[in-house]
Amino acid sequence: LPPRPDLDLAALVRTIPDFPKPGIQFRDITTLIADAAGFAESVRRMSARAAVYRPDLIVAVEARGFLFGAAMATAMGLGLVPVRKAGKLPGVTIGVDYELEYGVDRLELHEGAVVVGHRVVLIDDLLATGGTILATARLMKQVGAEVAAALFVIDLPDLGGSQRLADAGIACETLIA
Ligand code: AMP
Repeated sequence: LPPRPDLDLAALVRTIPDFPKPGIQFRDITTLIADAAGFAESVRRMSARAAVYRPDLIVAVEARGFLFGAAMATAMGLGLVPVRKAGKLPGVTIGVDYELEYGVDRLELHEGAVVVGHRVVLIDDLLATGGTILATARLMKQVGAEVAAALFVIDLPDLGGSQRLADAGIACETLIA
């Protein structure tokens, strides 16, 4: 599909109130990716931003990060490494626990998938508090990889994630705020 620099991606994202619980305004990207021009253009813009950081690997976070990360990886000619919720990866894993609003969660990475010297970009659909991507960045640090940047389709600036990433020294790019 031809580039569409004029295309308003924000208009293709749907907001669903009170999902998954009361008070949350859920930003639903299924309407964006169901639109052929919208999906192609969002992947093109994400890939163009990512390319500036000269990564040698895309690291994408479960689950909606996979949708954009996978498309970016093929567009950029790079490999894709998934970071998944606990218990999903079949091989030997390295894990990191991170705080949620209530309780903790765990993200895992296949051992050997990202190693010392890799320069990676982290991909997710949305940046809220930054907890998920900071946990992913900790995993990268554990294995000795360099996080060149974290990229998101959507930023919710009121939730402070971009500030937390800045405080952690991680470059951050978002298409829609
Ligand atoms: P956080 O770790 O707080 O930055 O949250 C980011 C993760 O939670 C991403 O994987 C998002 O897909 C998801 N998420 C958080 N808040 C929302 C929201 N309002 N709408 C859609 N997804 C969200």
